[in-house]
Amino acid sequence: MKNRAPRLTNEQYSCNFADIQKPLTTEQAVAEAARCLFCFEAPCITACPTHIDIPGFIQKIHNDNPRGSARLILDANPLGASCARVCPVEALCEGACVLNHNHEKPVEIGRLQRFSTDWFFERGMPELFELPEPNGRRVALIGAGPASLGCAAALRRMGYEAILFDRNPEPGGLNTYGIAQYKMTRQDSLNEVEYVKSLGVSVRCGVEVGRDVQTEDLLRDFDAVFLGVGLGGTHKLGIPGDELPGVVEALLFIRKYKTQSYGEVPVGRRVAVIGAGNTAIDAATAAVRLGAERTWILYRRSEAEMPAFDYEYDLAKQDGVIFQWLTAPVEVVGTGVVEGLRCVRMRLGEPDEQGRARPEPIPGTEFLLEVDMVIPSIGQEKLVEWLAGIDGLQLERDRVVVDPATGMTSVPGLFSGGDCVNGGMEVVNAVAEGKLAAAGIDQFLSARAAT
Ligand SMILES: Cc1cc2nc3c(=O)[nH]c(=O)nc-3n(C[C@H](O)[C@H](O)[C@H](O)COP(=O)(O)OP(=O)(O)OC[C@H]3O[C@@H](n4cnc5c(N)ncnc54)[C@H](O)[C@@H]3O)c2cc1C
Ligand code: SF4
Repeated sequence: MKNRAPRLTNEQYSCNFADIQKPLTTEQAVAEAARCLFCFEAPCITACPTHIDIPGFIQKIHNDNPRGSARLILDANPLGASCARVCPVEALCEGACVLNHNHEKPVEIGRLQRFSTDWFFERGMPELFELPEPNGRRVALIGAGPASLGCAAALRRMGYEAILFDRNPEPGGLNTYGIAQYKMTRQDSLNEVEYVKSLGVSVRCGVEVGRDVQTEDLLRDFDAVFLGVGLGGTHKLGIPGDELPGVVEALLFIRKYKTQSYGEVPVGRRVAVIGAGNTAIDAATAAVRLGAERTWILYRRSEAEMPAFDYEYDLAKQDGVIFQWLTAPVEVVGTGVVEGLRCVRMRLGEPDEQGRARPEPIPGTEFLLEVDMVIPSIGQEKLVEWLAGIDGLQLERDRVVVDPATGMTSVPGLFSGGDCVNGGMEVVNAVAEGKLAAAGIDQFLSARAAT
């Protein structure tokens, strides 16, 4: 890297990556719980993809029963602890809270959920559920991310043996390797996996399905298989110079700082992030917090089309990230290493097939942005080639097609959910789809046993 940002002190790193949302004290949690109206047909429950009984768990906090509260949360969502930290609550439960209609602040559902799940983990995960005896039927799950963990926990609680295979050295999927550290640490994610394991679920890491074992073998050796492989790496920029040292794709950059000590992660003094989705924001804020002096986000459309949530956008602005709207990169320049990014100004033209205004370059507006590092964040690739290798598996727009009522794919006995099905949503959607597939697997195997 031509100009590397100077290392910060350990105290500065700790401060920069500290929890962005401070936990509530007991007094604060009880006071916040008292704001809930305990609605009869609570819209917050409908807005939660895993349908946690939100007024129910809040009532239990109010009644000084954190164990009962954690039980209600984890009954509906075994990844309730990570969801409490990472869910875009303003777009889900808190966005639906009736208090919004009175122009009041919604109940802080996410922070209350975190209060109860923190209580559970801080007390060493006391037993919450009686587990049934194993029913003798085994399900293999490919991937150990939120979708598979949600599915496995539900299966185990129905009596199935559930075994997860993941190619990563550690389980948890993007919860462990992708989500911004100031929202959830790698250890928070691993603790949650320990909870799922405590239900009797087995996890085998370092096993790549397709290399070490084949999907067909799993379909033969297990009663059913769940496919929770998520998405692939970040799309390449596809412009000259995008292979130069100093071009680091967003997911790899985030994974590095989540798995290495902060000072070891190379970051430029001047950094350009390409794209304006939530991952781009995470990469840009990480660059700032690792010591970059100036960080830009370049987006080829305008602020109005930006896919990132408002909350994420505000966070990036607070971190001093500079947004360059209607700007696209055309070439990464440098002799042996990134020295700059040639860009062009864009304007919005006719709508494309999805109805979004198509950006087009304005001739004669090229300019050079002097940067030492370029972080492409223009969406994740789908694992098309890998998925196409599964005999009989139907794909549509590069996503796995499932029956929405059961999660079963076009291959009998093969179920799926999470990012590889929905194209990339949130942790809570992956968990909900995993749960739905667990019910589908139960239905499928029960029907098979009855014939
Ligand atoms: C940078 C980033 C930040 C995000 N931030 C948020 C956030 O703040 N809040 C939020 O709710 N969501 C966030 N998300 C989205 C969220 O992380 C995903 O929706 C969720 O992790 C999807 O879960 P999944 O189980 O489908 O896939 P993943 O989490 O991707 O897990 C898939 C697992 O499958 C494994 N795998 C893949 N192929 C194989 C194979 N052949 N053999 C064995 N194992 C395999 C992978 O190693 C991985 O562990 C973020 C996503 C990204 C990329
Ligand atoms: S909508 Fe708001 S007030 Fe009503 S139950 Fe849910 S959190 Fe409580």
